[in-house]
Amino acid sequence: MKVTAYSNNLFQLTRFVAFNCYLLREDDGFTVIDTNMGGQAQAIMQEASKLGLPIARILLTHAHVDHVGSLDALHEALPDVPVAISERDARFLSGDMSLDPSEPQVPLRGGYPVCKTKPTLLLHEGDRIGSLEVIGTPGHTPGHLAFLDTRDRALIAGDAFQTQGGVAVSGTVEWLFPLPALATWDKGLALESARKLLALRPSLLAVGHGRMLEHPQAAMEHAIRVMERSLAKAEGKQPHVA
Ligand SMILES: [Zn+2]
Repeated sequence: MKVTAYSNNLFQLTRFVAFNCYLLREDDGFTVIDTNMGGQAQAIMQEASKLGLPIARILLTHAHVDHVGSLDALHEALPDVPVAISERDARFLSGDMSLDPSEPQVPLRGGYPVCKTKPTLLLHEGDRIGSLEVIGTPGHTPGHLAFLDTRDRALIAGDAFQTQGGVAVSGTVEWLFPLPALATWDKGLALESARKLLALRPSLLAVGHGRMLEHPQAAMEHAIRVMERSLAKAEGKQPHVA
C-alpha cells in the first residue's frame, strides 16, 4: 500500500490509487480507520508494524464494502482488538437492510456486505474514541460517521467528501471518479452533513477516496455551493444567491 504521512499521528494507506484507509497514532497504539477493500488485512498490519506500534482498535466510518472489505480478516488476526462503528450502520454489517420510519425512504446504494465481525462499540454523535470526536454525518449512508482529531483538528471524513477527481460533497457526481456519488443514499442529508463538517473548521480533510487536503475550508465551501446548485436544479428551483 502507498503510505502518505500527514503528521506524526496520521498515515494514509492507499490501495488501487483511490481507496484509502488510515492509521492514527494514539498513546496505546494505532487506531485503524476503515479497512479498505478485501485482501488488505496483511498489508494494513504490516504498515502498522513498520511504523512501530500495535493496532489498538478498528474504527469504521460506514459499512460500504470498500471500507469494511478487510474487516473480517483483520478481526480474525486481531480478535481482542475492539471494533467500533455507528449503531446505525452496524445493522448493515449483520445483514439488516431496513430503513427506520423516521429516515428518508429512498433506496440504499452501494455494496453493504454482511460481515462475521460483531462490533464491540456502537458509536453516536459526540462520543469520544481516543483523541477523536465522533461526528454524525448521515447522507452517504444512514449511519455515516466522521472523526475529528481534537489534537490538531484533522478531520477524517470517510465518504462525506471526496477529493479524487475534484473536491466534492458525497452525492455530487465527479465524472473522473463517480463511485462515492453513485453510492450515496440521501443527497439532502449529505449536504447538511457537509455543512456541519465545514463548521468544524478542520485543519486537514482526509477522505476515503483521494488525497489529503490541508487548509480545506475554501475547497469544502466551494464543493457545498456546487452541491446546493445541483440539488436546487434537480428540484427545478432557482438556487438562492446570497
Ligand atoms: Zn462509501
